[in-house]
Amino acid sequence: MANDFQFDDDDFAKEAGAASGGRSFDEFECPDCSAHNVGIDTFSNGEEVRCMYCGSEFEARVSSEGKLKLKSA
Ligand SMILES: [Zn+2]
Repeated sequence: MANDFQFDDDDFAKEAGAASGGRSFDEFECPDCSAHNVGIDTFSNGEEVRCMYCGSEFEARVSSEGKLKLKSA
């Protein structure tokens, strides 16, 4: 399900000053199980994240627009 994807607007406002592509994230939605992972260590482009629910690992890729994409590790 892709239509339940959402971030807190507060988090976006908080990080709005960060340069595109250099921003960090403290939450993500797992591409495998669609779990919303929150309360995790912050990560940024090129770092690996692990889903707390299904255990899958992904490499974080931040686009030039500052959008997060997760690539299977
Ligand atoms: Zn997962």
